[in-house]
Amino acid sequence: MNIPLVDLAAQHRAVADEVAAGWARVLEKTAFVGGPQVTAFEQEYAAFSGAAHCVGVGNGTDALEFALRALAIGAGDECVVPANTFIATAEAVARTGATVVPVDCDPDTLLIDPTAAAAAVTTRTRAVLPVDLYGQVAPIERLRSLLPANVAIVEDGAQSQGAQRGGRTAGSFGDIAATSFYPGKNLGAYGDGGAVTTDRADLAERVRLLGAHGSPRKYEHPVLGFNSRLDTLQAVVLSAKLRRLAGWNADRRTAADRYAEMLAGVDGVVTPVVAEGNTPVWHLYVVRVAQRDAVLAKLHAAGIGAGIHYPTPVHLTGAFADLGLGEGAFPHAERAAGEILSLPLFPEITVEQQERVVSVLADSLVGESVHA
Ligand SMILES: *Cc1c(COP(=O)(O)O)cnc(C)c1O
Repeated sequence: MNIPLVDLAAQHRAVADEVAAGWARVLEKTAFVGGPQVTAFEQEYAAFSGAAHCVGVGNGTDALEFALRALAIGAGDECVVPANTFIATAEAVARTGATVVPVDCDPDTLLIDPTAAAAAVTTRTRAVLPVDLYGQVAPIERLRSLLPANVAIVEDGAQSQGAQRGGRTAGSFGDIAATSFYPGKNLGAYGDGGAVTTDRADLAERVRLLGAHGSPRKYEHPVLGFNSRLDTLQAVVLSAKLRRLAGWNADRRTAADRYAEMLAGVDGVVTPVVAEGNTPVWHLYVVRVAQRDAVLAKLHAAGIGAGIHYPTPVHLTGAFADLGLGEGAFPHAERAAGEILSLPLFPEITVEQQERVVSVLADSLVGESVHA
């Protein structure tokens, strides 16, 4: 029995008819950029996230970059990011011209350490980008309480669509938030897509301008912009999937709880730690094991699509080598990078599939020296 890390086919079957009908209407009108479908999705996603405004863009990385640019962040500024994130968080900062300042994570939840973030603030710091890693909202209210008022918070919610913390939904924390509709995310398009959410009308307006060639009206370009919009065809897919997202996230939670139960009796596996107040949406189910690479190889040999998110902390990538931060700079993030293992998890995963994953994982640990 082969078990993929994610299975997008089942999700497609659930929305196939609705997507086909919606796409037929778009094709009939041959209006492929903008239009009522995009506006409708933006309104639906803003409501879903509990934010006043949503602006669709071409992908999640652009969403982060435009959020920063809307705050007038650029060369000479510094932005604090967690060392353990997908590269895009840091990439977006670097693309504005600002300097990336990585910080370490909490050793248990692997979310950004608010104290470390506050300690990294200098007179040049303009923003901190907490990442809702693996589908769990970062401790943003704690971060806010520790940061000077002039330092903005830009939530990277690419992995947390629908997640809650203290009764609030991901995408509504901070001054502005970015998300990604990359196909494998909890809310995935059929190609690239992304969005910014915020309560601030001025920031939303600025993001919309940046994604549309800096143009509020045709052939007027008061500012230098980009071309980065959410396609009409993708908006149709996203509206259809958004209607089902709460249910899919609940199914992920059920599967995550099942893993926790099944793994409780397996020595040498550390299951994910949920921070108090959080209701995660389990974008990824990440355990920790010693001898991770050997275990991963055995899982792959048995047809199980486990993965590593992410094997190299930002400061140790070639892209950020010029930060001059070597090994040892962020011990918690570095240690985690060597132990983390993402197990297959998607809303439709069956009990039998999970039993097989756990049984192969348990067998893989036998013979590996375990001191997790
Ligand atoms: C996926 C992801 C992004 C970037 O999204 P793209 O749509 O692929 O550009 C940013 N941050 C995190 C944490 C992500 O997981």
